[in-house]
Amino acid sequence: MIRKLLRKVFRRAAPGSDSAPALIPVQTHGITAADVSHAARKVCTVLQEAGFQAFIVGGAIRDLLVDQTPKDYDVATSATPEEVRRLFRRARIIGRRFRIVHVMIGQEMIEVSTFRALQDASTTSTDAHGRVLHDNVFGNQHEDALRRDFTVNALYYDPSTEHIIDYHHGVADLQQKTLRMIGDPKLRYREDPVRMLRAVRLGAKLGLAIDPVARRPIREMAELMDNVPAARLFDEMLKLLLSGHAVKCLTELREQGLHHGLLPLLDVILEQPMGERFVWLSLENTDQRVSEGKPVSPGFLFATLLWHEVLVNWEARKARGEHTHPALFEAMDEVLSVQGEKLAITRRIAGDIKDIWALQPRFEKRAGKAPFRLLEQPRYRAGWDFLRLRAQSGEIDMELVDWWANFADASGHEREGMLSPAEPGTAKRRRRRRRRPAGGGARGNGEAS
Ligand code: ATP
Ligand code: MG
Repeated sequence: MIRKLLRKVFRRAAPGSDSAPALIPVQTHGITAADVSHAARKVCTVLQEAGFQAFIVGGAIRDLLVDQTPKDYDVATSATPEEVRRLFRRARIIGRRFRIVHVMIGQEMIEVSTFRALQDASTTSTDAHGRVLHDNVFGNQHEDALRRDFTVNALYYDPSTEHIIDYHHGVADLQQKTLRMIGDPKLRYREDPVRMLRAVRLGAKLGLAIDPVARRPIREMAELMDNVPAARLFDEMLKLLLSGHAVKCLTELREQGLHHGLLPLLDVILEQPMGERFVWLSLENTDQRVSEGKPVSPGFLFATLLWHEVLVNWEARKARGEHTHPALFEAMDEVLSVQGEKLAITRRIAGDIKDIWALQPRFEKRAGKAPFRLLEQPRYRAGWDFLRLRAQSGEIDMELVDWWANFADASGHEREGMLSPAEPGTAKRRRRRRRRPAGGGARGNGEAS
């Protein structure tokens, strides 16, 4: 009995490390070559015909097994990046931490990476906390499988044989709805703290429970996120927020007490009752749009996440006697710069965020020419959607939102009748004031439904 138990434990403890991988035939897993993207198939065929090993690997096979549409396709090969590049007309090598090749086939981009060796002290450079900095030592498929994060992500599909090669019982874990880390979770989080975020995101996306062994250390290790470069953190946050499961992901992060370490921008927000309602509404709205296949703009999303920080900052400035308009712009800049230290919000997205915020006070002016000018703003629709979220969260009156909807729909003649009487002296003041550049930018990727 005990011997049987021990055998079982040992089999689990060293999954696939020395044993041969399982070879799962198409009759069992059901993914035919016709089910995978033409481009990914083509990349594998070209590489195989040139004498290299090549497999579709990672998220795509995992997603197909649970009947989800893969977002993108990754190929793993025994060819080096240079060898890959030489085989394709439209291919370029990118990345520093991991050198990979982007191969374009028609409209599709396939990410091709060379099998990597295990990470150990002699082949890997790390920072003081054990985070892997460079990792470009090539290895074989077996080693490559050990280096991937979760068992469900270490499935290799060969489109020519339609076999899945499964080194770590990933197919079984997927069936049992478990997200299991390959190797010791603590060590793997230390190597790359972003794996904590990936655990939460993939668990939510695939409806998998994070294996307790992988889940437990997250709380105590969350502070390691501090060492992740801001640009990478921003990419991962964006993936999480735009995954279509943002509400589920953030609920999970919060349950784990993780939002403190992981998401500096959420620290404060989730603790303010009004801000919390606003953020939650915005995330629900985003998930809904993703599920309907509508575009979601990161600028809009981050504008909502940070809005209540801006409000608090703005109110404090006004209370100190600063003028309304400049105070808003100062507040916007301060909030963005504080968040930017931890989370490298790209300049483009920061511009989009500011455009949306800067439009908000302009919705309050319902007299004179101002409403007509606001309607012409390219970001009007995104600004109005934002205004509506503010009303839905209870921050402002819905009457204002409805007024703008009616105003936008009305004919020119009707619009004149809807205007409030001009405040005395406004016209003169406007003439004297220098025209501020329009609050809306030239780009039009708003949230228009
Ligand atoms: P999705 O594309 O749905 O976001 P994914 O798992 O495919 O999920 P990618 O970032 O495309 O995520 O990564 C492709 C594969 O590379 C993963 O499936 C995994 O095998 C491996 N991988 C990605 N990030 C890591 C990481 N931080 N540590 C170890 N392996 C990783
Ligand atoms: Mg992927």
